[in-house]
Amino acid sequence: MAKTGRIGVTSDNIFPVIKKFLYSDHDIFLRELVSNAVDATNKLKTLSSKGEAKGELGDLSVRISLDPKAKTLTVSDRGIGMTQDEVNKYINEIAFSGAEEFLEKYKDDAASIIGHFGLGFYSAFMVSKKVEIFTKSYKDNAEGVHWSCTGEPDYIMESCDKADRGTDIVLHIDDESQDFLQKEKIDSLLRKYCHFLNVPIIFGKEQEWKDGKYVDTDKDNQINDTEPLWTKQPADLKDEDYKNFYRQLYPMSDEPLFWIHLNVDYPFNLTGVLYFPKIHNQFELQKNKIQLYCNQVFVTDEVEGIVPEFLTLLHGVIDSPDIPLNVSRSYLQSDARVKKISSHITKKVADRLEEIFKKDRSTFEEKWEDLKIFIAYGMLSDEKFYDRAMKFYLFKDTEGKYFTYEEYKQLIQSEQTDKDDRIVFLYTNSLDKQYAHIKNVKDKGYSVLVMDGPLDVPCMSRFEQKNEKTAYVRVDSSSPEMLIQKKDQAQVALDAKDVDMLKNIFEGHLPTMEKKHFNIVPESLGKDQDAVTITQDEFMRRMQEMAKLQPGMGFYGELPETFNIVLNTDNELVDRILKEAKQANDATLDPMRKSLEEAQAEVDKMAKAQEGKKDEEIATADKESLSKRREEVQKISTEISNKLKEYGKGNDLIGQLLDLALLSGGLLTGEALANFIRRSQKLL
Ligand code: ADP
Repeated sequence: MAKTGRIGVTSDNIFPVIKKFLYSDHDIFLRELVSNAVDATNKLKTLSSKGEAKGELGDLSVRISLDPKAKTLTVSDRGIGMTQDEVNKYINEIAFSGAEEFLEKYKDDAASIIGHFGLGFYSAFMVSKKVEIFTKSYKDNAEGVHWSCTGEPDYIMESCDKADRGTDIVLHIDDESQDFLQKEKIDSLLRKYCHFLNVPIIFGKEQEWKDGKYVDTDKDNQINDTEPLWTKQPADLKDEDYKNFYRQLYPMSDEPLFWIHLNVDYPFNLTGVLYFPKIHNQFELQKNKIQLYCNQVFVTDEVEGIVPEFLTLLHGVIDSPDIPLNVSRSYLQSDARVKKISSHITKKVADRLEEIFKKDRSTFEEKWEDLKIFIAYGMLSDEKFYDRAMKFYLFKDTEGKYFTYEEYKQLIQSEQTDKDDRIVFLYTNSLDKQYAHIKNVKDKGYSVLVMDGPLDVPCMSRFEQKNEKTAYVRVDSSSPEMLIQKKDQAQVALDAKDVDMLKNIFEGHLPTMEKKHFNIVPESLGKDQDAVTITQDEFMRRMQEMAKLQPGMGFYGELPETFNIVLNTDNELVDRILKEAKQANDATLDPMRKSLEEAQAEVDKMAKAQEGKKDEEIATADKESLSKRREEVQKISTEISNKLKEYGKGNDLIGQLLDLALLSGGLLTGEALANFIRRSQKLL
């Protein structure tokens, strides 16, 4: 007998919510219906294995079909089916407490509502003007049941003839949702959500190319892989299996570097396989490549906040029955179980990497350059991972040898500890550009690391923070002598007058470059060292590099780049330049220097007389004559330095030396480079 009625108590509230507020997540209705069909099928299998369901089970595939004429989409299974009582209980009486309040609170959040109430089935109304159920229970002598509802919330339920056990859900797609009648759309949704369900999902027939077009064969088109790799035991799998699965997930990607098979059963259930992808450059780093499943049902590929930040760069799948289906992102992220999962995955990943490192160091080293960016990112963003990864993070020296932190520290400790007991890690970020610096440093018996990765600069800052009394210094950040200061700085052998002269004549020839600043720094470096070298202070340079990575440090990015041009006062050439400059200038400058000295002496004397007095106690005339004298000092010293600068400017040798320094620093370009070449030819 047909029964009519109203669905549940609070369903008046549910339908408008389902219809009105759930636009963004329409796609998920198909996942819900197919999941229900799969559940019903699995239940039947369980009952059968216990002997509670009798007879042959037959084909258990779940079938999805479209009827464009009738404008219906049907999901059919041969699972346990439902009796009238069950339809009543599971479909009609959606009784829950506190529903109205909850609906009010989450009315904009479709996934939460659907998940919270197990309204999976009702999501069908997001896209349908009418939904029908044809079902027949597996139980002996069960009668077919037909249920039909237009979402009003009134429904009809009656007996019907149904030959087969199981359930057909027929959706009469509404006018606004006609795209769900398109084969391609349904095909892509099934592939997205149902790719790894454990019961065969069939959508239409396989096709073949015949007489210039695709035609159906009589073979069922199965959408899914019912036994995805992560559900199997690692012991039963070969490398090839992992690679094949990776190809299945990411057909366009290169072979992965490593994989980690997660298989946790305590304190929660979690399986999955994470892959370290091979990337060719930073720009290929992509988030949201990990897919999250709940019992082989796809949940999301937006894993941020669910797996640790740095692991979002990995690829692969994670499957846990503890990851709630159908809840909103924020709910998922705040879920205590999900948080635990996140920290557990971090630990597993670190453990596995350590294991690979210990077992097969040479393979690990081979892949290190590709792997490094993931590890470095992890160490920078996750304290716990930092501690674990320190055991297998590798440092590479200029010979291409790899060391762990501890190994390398041991290696350099005796030679590279400075006067303040700091161990100095020397590094280069370009074997090519810093060749001369590297050579000088190695000649001194030091070791040099290659730190040219995109995250190396922030990493070394982190290493310094974490390990007191260590410092990272780039080989070109000062002269070789000064990189690791073993004793207090050697004094420049020249007197102040000579130092001043050298500075001025070289400054006179310095090029002006936008956003670059140069200091002339005379230093006594020994006779056999180069006449000029260009260096860049480690601290400032590193801050500027960091500023490029971290928007908050913009201030450093604004400053001009500062370089030191180190003049080796022990070098013959510099000595010659100085001597010639003295010869050419002393006659003119000496009288000026004398006046300067006298003026300065007077300034000192007057300043001394006024010392300790309050402003009003000093006679105005005295104040004026002091400031006049000061101006005079200023004037003479500017004159002297201008004369020297002018001399420097006209001196080809100085120009040549400066240009060589700039050239070695890769700073000589454009017109300056052309001038250098012309001058070189002239000098030759
Ligand atoms: P949930 O699946 O979260 O329990 P649903 O609203 O999707 O919520 O389904 C409610 C109930 O209806 C299910 O628990 C199940 O007992 C029954 N059901 C739904 N679809 C089917 C089906 N295809 N075959 C058998 N039972 C079904």
